[in-house]
Amino acid sequence: MPTTLTDKLQYLASNLFWTWHPEVIGVFRDIDPELWRQVNFSPVAFLRALPPDEIERRSLNLNLESRINFAFHRLVEYLGAEHTWAKVHAGPLNCRPVAYFSAEFGIHESLPIYSGGLGVLAGDHLKSASDLGVPLVGVGLLYHQGYFRQILNPDGWQQEEYGFMPIDDLPLSPALDENGKIIEVSIDLPTGRLGARVWRAQVGRATLLLLDSDVAGNSPSDRELTARLYGGDRRIRIRQELILGFGGLRALRACGFDPGVYHLNEGHSAFVTLERVRERVENDGYSFEDACREVSLHTVFTTHTPVEAGHDRFTPDLIDEHLGWIREKLRISQDQLLGLGRVNTGDHGEAFCMTVLALKLSRSANAVSALHGHVSRRMWNRLWPNRDEREVPIGHITNGVHIASWLSPSMSKVFERHVGERWFHRLCHRDAWEGVGKIRDLELWEAHLYEKHRLIDFVRHRLAEQEARRAPHDPSAPAKAARLLSRGALTIGFARRYATYKRAALLFKDVDRLARLLNDKARPVQIIYAGKSHPQDDGGKRLIQLVVQMSRDPRFAGKIVFVEDYDLGVARHFVQGVDVWLNNPVKPLEACGTSGMKVALNGGLNLSILDGWWAEAYDGTNGFSIGSGDVHANAEVQEARDAETLYSTLEKVIVPMYFRRTAEDVATEWVARMKNAIMSMAWRFNSDRMVMDYMLQGYLPACGGVSSSMM
Ligand SMILES: *Cc1c(COP(=O)(O)O)cnc(C)c1O
Repeated sequence: MPTTLTDKLQYLASNLFWTWHPEVIGVFRDIDPELWRQVNFSPVAFLRALPPDEIERRSLNLNLESRINFAFHRLVEYLGAEHTWAKVHAGPLNCRPVAYFSAEFGIHESLPIYSGGLGVLAGDHLKSASDLGVPLVGVGLLYHQGYFRQILNPDGWQQEEYGFMPIDDLPLSPALDENGKIIEVSIDLPTGRLGARVWRAQVGRATLLLLDSDVAGNSPSDRELTARLYGGDRRIRIRQELILGFGGLRALRACGFDPGVYHLNEGHSAFVTLERVRERVENDGYSFEDACREVSLHTVFTTHTPVEAGHDRFTPDLIDEHLGWIREKLRISQDQLLGLGRVNTGDHGEAFCMTVLALKLSRSANAVSALHGHVSRRMWNRLWPNRDEREVPIGHITNGVHIASWLSPSMSKVFERHVGERWFHRLCHRDAWEGVGKIRDLELWEAHLYEKHRLIDFVRHRLAEQEARRAPHDPSAPAKAARLLSRGALTIGFARRYATYKRAALLFKDVDRLARLLNDKARPVQIIYAGKSHPQDDGGKRLIQLVVQMSRDPRFAGKIVFVEDYDLGVARHFVQGVDVWLNNPVKPLEACGTSGMKVALNGGLNLSILDGWWAEAYDGTNGFSIGSGDVHANAEVQEARDAETLYSTLEKVIVPMYFRRTAEDVATEWVARMKNAIMSMAWRFNSDRMVMDYMLQGYLPACGGVSSSMM
């Protein structure tokens, strides 16, 4: 047990628990605010930079002793808690954990191994599993250069910059075997042996294992395999997925884990099923068919997108080159192997699809919203040609967000006062949230305005930095940035990946109409944009460029801005402070969407196409819809309609409602919607509820236990 203050801080820094506990962050910040900024808010780096006696001296001088002790004991208690939800509900999983495989994990901006919603969801899944006490170990890749940092050139064109992640400044430690030796796993490829080492991170009670091919003994090109997330060609991609699947299972074994259930978060990790089949055949003498059946019984698969390009496919050549060796071990033909990834097993022209492999080798699959469930059953009906679409075995578990990671400090205080001190332990109880209805309008409104002003300050600060980079010799640049945006304007946020189906430029369909909307002196409106485009997606990059061009149009000066380098930190500011969150994808391509959930919980109002989660969540009183949800057969007609409804909803409903104020300057009708948003959505669209659903519908059946909802 740590005894000195420095030891206690070391202990706190070693667990990513701090990422969702502001009281831990507050202690580090207050010891030395200047250093805290300099180390980019990394507790490990902070402690490396300050000698222990200096830490002790400051902590005592600043009277931080009791706060450090408090934070320390919270973590100790958290890790040792006896009474968790899972103790009662996880049954056999309490002996054999869930292995959760994902190519991305979004836990904190300082660990850039995520690109968007998929990774953020995986991070939130880990955090909620930890909070609920669900025994779960995540498996992913450590990308040394991470996902790129976005910088725009003077023309507004996205440039990708890769830096090296400062591993020593992160709470990662090499995984060790029982003899204390550093674990290295290997995969035999035709080109030779590929080695990977294993890093370990603690996310509260959950463990995360990250594989990394940058080891001595690998060829220089193999050492770079795991350098970047989505940065390479198909050959790099398949090798990354081999490391994740084959290496991931070997890493689990080497670390002493014997999972009872395997959860594939998206198809990227589906090779793990083949490695498990190999174990069964080679170690336990199973036939290939029996091994497949056995493996699928313990596998749960989540599919994440109806967009075709989102499903990984590899040519037969590439598969044969990399998996030829396993054919021999399994004693199966090339057609049998390739057939595992094909809809029509005998079709030699069909590529090998990781989603198909995952569907074939899992006991149950799920989509990520009710609507996405329908779309996925239609999409994959061809795999079960004799079944009616409704009987395709793909269900749905709607995504959720980790409340403690996304809730603003002001709103958290309001909930403590009105939902109750222990509201955090009753997140999924609908009745717990009824207290929100009784909050005084002025109190909720002011809590929101406080966060909105923080957002505006944050955006101005970022814009000043962007300006300073673009015009390093213009001394007036920062002052100019400080004059952008206005505190009184209705503030709309749009931030997400710039995939073309998300239609970031829909509001620019009729620029004159938009100019009238934004420039109404009595009822001003402003829009803040952010988001990265996939490095190979020029269509997405053109959308970013268009937004930037608009932000330079004199009619929109200071009213439309683009914040570069969207990440978890930027997202946190945006979702906590916007008035309105705009989401206008092409229906039904948004499988779920989670950013709107983060906004709703903070009292922001969604303005969205009835796609993904919003089709489930919207009830007419808790936000706004764009259109009725009907989809026209002609895409252009649909787009024109969506734009028209978007403008008219803003002009006739949203702007008037926002500016209708009481004598105290409160937008009463608006606040009523804010309350409805929180009350109707927070208990449903959080990741505790999501993990509970996975437990009852996926994990328990897959580990041979019976779900308590069925008992
Ligand atoms: C929540 C989040 C997302 C997912 O947002 P969508 O609504 O699904 O597009 C993407 N990126 C970041 C950084 C997020 O925090």
